Amino acid sequence: MYGIRLPPRSGIASVQIMKTALLTHADCLSHVTPTGHPERVARLEHVLHALEPLDLTRVTAPLAAEDDILRVHPKSHLEELRRTLPADGYYQIDGDTFTSPGSLDAAFRAAGACVKAVDMVLGGEAPNAFCAIRPPGHHAETDTAMGFCLFGNAALAAKHALDHHGLSRVAVVDFDVHHGNGTQDLLWDDARALTITSQQMPLWPGTGRADETGVHGNVLNIPLGPDTGGAEMRSAWRDQAFPRLRSFRPELIIISAGFDAHQDDPLAQLNWSTEDFAWITAELCKIADEVCDGRVVSTLEGGYDLTALAASAKAHVEELIKAAT
Ligand SMILES: [Zn+2]
Repeated sequence: MYGIRLPPRSGIASVQIMKTALLTHADCLSHVTPTGHPERVARLEHVLHALEPLDLTRVTAPLAAEDDILRVHPKSHLEELRRTLPADGYYQIDGDTFTSPGSLDAAFRAAGACVKAVDMVLGGEAPNAFCAIRPPGHHAETDTAMGFCLFGNAALAAKHALDHHGLSRVAVVDFDVHHGNGTQDLLWDDARALTITSQQMPLWPGTGRADETGVHGNVLNIPLGPDTGGAEMRSAWRDQAFPRLRSFRPELIIISAGFDAHQDDPLAQLNWSTEDFAWITAELCKIADEVCDGRVVSTLEGGYDLTALAASAKAHVEELIKAAT
């Protein structure tokens, strides 16, 4: 499948104006967590409210096909989630990961949004896309739901682009404050996928050291000490991540967009500002313009201060819109 021709954006733009796509579904609000849990319904409500005034192509996220999930997870993982799904109340998977009756519908919509976003961006229907979804995905390992995550949304989107669309190189870029251990696990031995992730260290889940580099040297971990601010973060990404991303020349960039590195976030101790999230998004879009005709699919991961989350997600999507025009 190497050598697949992707439609150039300029050719499509001559016949219609394309906008950044926003993919979401009300089912993502039906994944309910116990009172006081940080990964709560209000997160997505705040993000969607903040995005309301923006000029976007609004897309109803489909349910993922089972095959989309099975590209990265064994059938047993899916069966276990189905078997334990509660008829009411909650099922506790681990210390902080729960399912409620609506969780699997939400998880299938979250994964389906990411797959559909890849289809739209690779098919020339949108220059770039943001998936406003929950549950998040980057902590879900091959056969383990964890860290509020059930399916590896970013990784399964990458595999969909590689296996279904026949791409040769896809990058997953993760700036959530927590290490994307799940994405790393799911893409660890795939030379076609470059994973670049910065995270606070030490911090849960404890992985993400610089010497974790993947089977083919296809993983770049950038640990950041507690209290790292915007200037330090920017130079780390400028010095390490961006040159690596440019030399890999991905045909698609997938962003795991977590906003919990924000200085107001209650779960971690990095000191990024809303402007820092705009900056990193603009830089990633600039690289995407250079190497892959601007193709970016971004998906929501963490972010637990509702005000900071909404403002940062809005700043992120505004940069996607700027890059698309
Ligand atoms: Zn996080």
